[in-house]
Amino acid sequence: MTETATARLLIIGPPGAGKGTQASRIAERYGVPAISTGDIFRANITGGTELGKQVQAIIEQGELVPDTLTNEIVADRLQQEDAARGFLLDGYPRTVEQVHALDGMLSGASLDAVVLLDADVDAVVARLLKRAEIEGRADDTEEVIRHRQDVYAAQTAPLVELFSERGILVSVDGLGTVEEVAERIASGLDAKLNAPVGQ
Ligand code: AMP
Repeated sequence: MTETATARLLIIGPPGAGKGTQASRIAERYGVPAISTGDIFRANITGGTELGKQVQAIIEQGELVPDTLTNEIVADRLQQEDAARGFLLDGYPRTVEQVHALDGMLSGASLDAVVLLDADVDAVVARLLKRAEIEGRADDTEEVIRHRQDVYAAQTAPLVELFSERGILVSVDGLGTVEEVAERIASGLDAKLNAPVGQ
């Protein structure tokens, strides 16, 4: 990439598909910050901030934080200096409403590519149950894990079609080792970012 090139990227996929791990690799490769709304919320809960108090119960139940609040946080984060030449969003947008809000934040500029990390529900539930043993996240109980999959299917999965229609979707099989998946993403993204618009 040249000095002036931008990379406005998203990674999307069901909870447990490994987005966070891949997000930091993509961000490093393209020299942009990885911005995870889930991480921002969790940091606020840990820090006991006003925002943290507002979202804690919602997150523990596996529900989505209201769009208005989430959009404000992202708008604020995207205005920071390090995001001027691009970013990799992880876990946002999650609703059609958030897609429209993001379009507005980019004021005419468009996203360059969206990575869909594809994985079937049984595989991701198994992975999250394992993570629960290791990390003990409050929203990693089996009941909440299943609910988060349902929320993804109902609210977020429809966005994939929307990004596909825009010609910016890069669909990657999320099953495999971290290295294997990272390679698939890198070659898919390079091809998309170097392709003529609309291909
Ligand atoms: P994640 O780490 O991306 O799985 O997010 C953890 C939780 O944070 C989600 O289950 C939601 O409760 C909340 N959250 C994260 N991102 C968003 C978003 N874009 N919109 C609404 N809620 C979100």
